[in-house]
Amino acid sequence: MSRKSLNLFPADPHVALPPADVLTDRLRAIGLIGERFPDSLDVRYVVGLRFEELITFHSSHRVIKLLNDEAGNMIQAPPRDSREFCLTELHYATDRRPNVIVSCITEDARCPCGFTPPESLDVIGAWWDADRAGKWTCPACGRSLLPWELDWNHAAGFATDHIEIVGIKPREATPSEALSAELGEMFGGGVAYAYTWI
Ligand SMILES: [Zn+2]
Repeated sequence: MSRKSLNLFPADPHVALPPADVLTDRLRAIGLIGERFPDSLDVRYVVGLRFEELITFHSSHRVIKLLNDEAGNMIQAPPRDSREFCLTELHYATDRRPNVIVSCITEDARCPCGFTPPESLDVIGAWWDADRAGKWTCPACGRSLLPWELDWNHAAGFATDHIEIVGIKPREATPSEALSAELGEMFGGGVAYAYTWI
């Protein structure tokens, strides 16, 4: 089953998230998340009371869940709106360094000068291969840039830690201004987001 997510993280990729217990309490206090989802080995949280105020949905999709009945037959539960089923998971990098949040979604990266590298992933490769410090040089303007200094149009992100909201397709929803303000306070700086589809 594919996993479609909206990922939220500090705009500065070196900024770590608050410890999981602190962050969980704060996300619950603002109403983004609710209780822990029981049917999962991963620690995930169901939507909170203000989830749909904090995440601005431009559209949603229907989710059809397949279940086993008591006789072991596969049955189909009635379709429901995807917004009810979003689950939030926190990710902390074990090596405490910026990582790349990327999936099969491809968008052209764009240099601040407007140039689009023909092979966007080369920008990430140059950075990663030089022990996550390599800069890509723009052939158009000559700037040397780290990957997060380009505009990836939310198809890639760079973060030490991130919050993943599973169940959101690319462009379906964006963080509201209110959520960005709350997260900005928690992160101590700006907020960025990226979609993944794995
Ligand atoms: Zn450039």
